[in-house]
Amino acid sequence: MDNIESASKIGDVQPSLLIRGAAGILTGGSGTTSRSQGHDIRIRNGVIVAIGDLPPEPREQVFDASGCVVYPAWVNTHHHLAQSLLKGVPGGINSTLTPWLSAVPFRFRKCFDEQLLRTAARIGLIELALSGCGTVADHHYMYWPGMDFDGAQILFEEAERLGMRFVLCRGGATQSRHFEKNTREVEQLSDYLDDVSRLKGEFHDPGPNAMRRVVVAPTTVMFSMDSGELREVAEHARSLGLRLHSHLSETVLYQEASREKYHCTPIQLAEKTGWLGADVWYAHLVKLDRAEIELLGATHTGIAHCPQSNGRLASGIAPIRALQDAGVQISLAVDGAGSNEAADMLHEAHVAWLMARARAGQGATPRYAGGRGEEGADSVTVEDVIHWGTAGGATVLGLHDVGTLAPGKAADIAIYELDQPRHFGVHDLSIAPVICDGATVKTLLVAGKAVVEDRKIPGIDLVELAFEARQAVDRLKYLAERQASSSE
Ligand SMILES: [Zn+2]
Repeated sequence: MDNIESASKIGDVQPSLLIRGAAGILTGGSGTTSRSQGHDIRIRNGVIVAIGDLPPEPREQVFDASGCVVYPAWVNTHHHLAQSLLKGVPGGINSTLTPWLSAVPFRFRKCFDEQLLRTAARIGLIELALSGCGTVADHHYMYWPGMDFDGAQILFEEAERLGMRFVLCRGGATQSRHFEKNTREVEQLSDYLDDVSRLKGEFHDPGPNAMRRVVVAPTTVMFSMDSGELREVAEHARSLGLRLHSHLSETVLYQEASREKYHCTPIQLAEKTGWLGADVWYAHLVKLDRAEIELLGATHTGIAHCPQSNGRLASGIAPIRALQDAGVQISLAVDGAGSNEAADMLHEAHVAWLMARARAGQGATPRYAGGRGEEGADSVTVEDVIHWGTAGGATVLGLHDVGTLAPGKAADIAIYELDQPRHFGVHDLSIAPVICDGATVKTLLVAGKAVVEDRKIPGIDLVELAFEARQAVDRLKYLAERQASSSE
């Protein structure tokens, strides 16, 4: 069932577009560059050409942004779109990471076909777009020998139909985990490397404002491949000019496994296998010691910080301020919907803001015990989390013309309306979408084209999609039960 038509083309039909009279513009920059003094943005051919207080030009299309706040479109650096049909699975609702992996993504993995993956991807991308997200890096690890559909093709197609930038992180494993019943379902390393080369040829654009990218991303550095294979994969990726991504140090299990298998810490393993550097970023990095933080920082390795998923699975709170101070490239991500039922970058930013302060305050010590009393509220600012979720994400992905509102940068722009009661009474409107935990996206532009227009995604019937989602969930439940009973 196809309920998407092509995205409308606000930026294409006029000589230029002027977004005018915003109550505030956050640029995605850090420190003193985080806010624009002006209230208007001019766009031409998908690129920002001016920001300031700008009088309209003849024949220019003018977008009235009065009462609205303007941010760069969010850049989500770690997701599993397939999980958009695996929300709130009862068997994993109160589980930590490892039993959750068994009860949720790996239980349903082999049930997916082309149509189910397409429906899941569409739901997840639409959720993200409606939160103001324009770029999505999806860590897709549904691969097994003999599969009869190309997940990469489906995911790129769905993102393109909505007009979103899409980065495929090609997951996969040559080693099975203990909870995978059929150990013959992993890939051969040579097949994995061949597919990476194929994907690069078919989809990868190395440009700084690319709409399509490919990244080499074994599912988890610790468990998916042995150390020799990891080294080979990193060399292969770099020879093709591709970035590296994976899960790492999400829970204490990573520390236990690394000590047992490799007699070192997880980050030392990454160092030994060529898996550190400015072209590498990891999801989570929750459980780290001081030396690991320094090593990550010295190599400018990146993080996809996923505080909601880390909270949901009781993994912990990543030491995000310490990582930033050490030199790590910080980005934000929602992770899969199976462990974070809100694929909402604005909400993720809100939670990142709170969690970092909660972690800082948790360490506060009374003065009588040698501490400094109350502290921690200045550990992370709203401007910091907006920077992480926009320019930070673009840096991690190597999309250097994305994620910042400045002349010459891509016109990836989220315009938020502040019309809900929660926004009434706010003194500093520029930060209201984050501190109030939400605002409606009035318009989302990616490369100057409307992905969300007047609060809606053109051509999308949400009632129809909801019906399709219910049918898909019923089908997944049926297939998982049939699979379980046939393997008994
Ligand atoms: Zn993940």
